[in-house]
Amino acid sequence: MTVEGLRTRHVELLRDRRVVDHLDPGPRAAQPPPHRYHTWTQVAAEPVATRLARLVDVRARPAAYRHDHLRDLQRTLDAVAPEVLHLARVAGWATGTPVLAGVFPTGTLDGLSVPVPGRGVLVLVNSGVPDLVATVLKIMTGALPNYGTPPLLDAEQASYALAEAVNAYLYGNGAVAAQPLPELSGQRLALVGLMLRRATQFVIAHEVAHVIAGHLVTARRWTDPDTPVGALDAQSVGWPREHEADRIAATIMLHTLDDLGPRELDVHEPCLVGALLLVLFLHEVVDRLAAELGLVVPFAGSHPPPVRRIQTLVEHLAERVRTPRALDLAADVATWLEDQVAGVRDWFRLAEEVGAAH
Ligand SMILES: [Zn+2]
Repeated sequence: MTVEGLRTRHVELLRDRRVVDHLDPGPRAAQPPPHRYHTWTQVAAEPVATRLARLVDVRARPAAYRHDHLRDLQRTLDAVAPEVLHLARVAGWATGTPVLAGVFPTGTLDGLSVPVPGRGVLVLVNSGVPDLVATVLKIMTGALPNYGTPPLLDAEQASYALAEAVNAYLYGNGAVAAQPLPELSGQRLALVGLMLRRATQFVIAHEVAHVIAGHLVTARRWTDPDTPVGALDAQSVGWPREHEADRIAATIMLHTLDDLGPRELDVHEPCLVGALLLVLFLHEVVDRLAAELGLVVPFAGSHPPPVRRIQTLVEHLAERVRTPRALDLAADVATWLEDQVAGVRDWFRLAEEVGAAH
């Protein structure tokens, strides 16, 4: 009953901020699906001017929230949130507080906890985050030879695809996703699916950790006037508690590997660690690019800088992982992402020149 109450509050929030009226598409005709790349050779194969125009277009025109897309994202959250609460219970942290994760264009990579008196806690998850994480994982597994040979994308294709993904995240108000890439198959599909689920679990587990640890009881209201939907309230708990929430979330998730044999652990532990840290790596890269572009990052400062969180979390994980190569995948992700930043920056610089000329 209380979770239903939270769901009602979530729909109210969506409606108040003119995101959507409800999450059920109802009798209205579904919006046409966005243009997509049908084959990997099509990715970034258009003339440079066309590619730049697409980046500029996202920056110039506010896009409408896509009903069916938001509903799909919500369906994922509806599956992942109870899973996280279950994992927390198994790890020994029971919470009597109902929690519902709701998709919302918050503009931040962190989840936002919104206590609803008498009901529980509504965790708002930025609608732009699952799109960004999924696309980045697709590009990475498509471009790096360790996930399959020959690679699906060469360096230049990967660079544009990544620029498109970050551009959509930074300028798309949580309503625009990058032009969808083709479907993956086999090992790449399995890895991306697993890591995306783990990354989503981590975003929610961090917020659940605040609930479990009682952080919200003494939290202070933090209102940010500059989110994609105007002023939004969240709870600020202070940096030490943010680190604590990262640690609790990681501990909850590591427990899920307890029953695995050594061989499975060898595969699953690096994926889990890689997925947790991917969220923070992306946070760092996106914050850095936003600062260079002079963009406002909503709720900046409510959490410690991502580099500090990465450092603290790596120290925590290093003491707890059970396989020797547990941190290797995360290290590969970090190196690859860092190598890509210059290319993304080049595309952004060109897009700015084109945008300014219009
Ligand atoms: Zn937090």
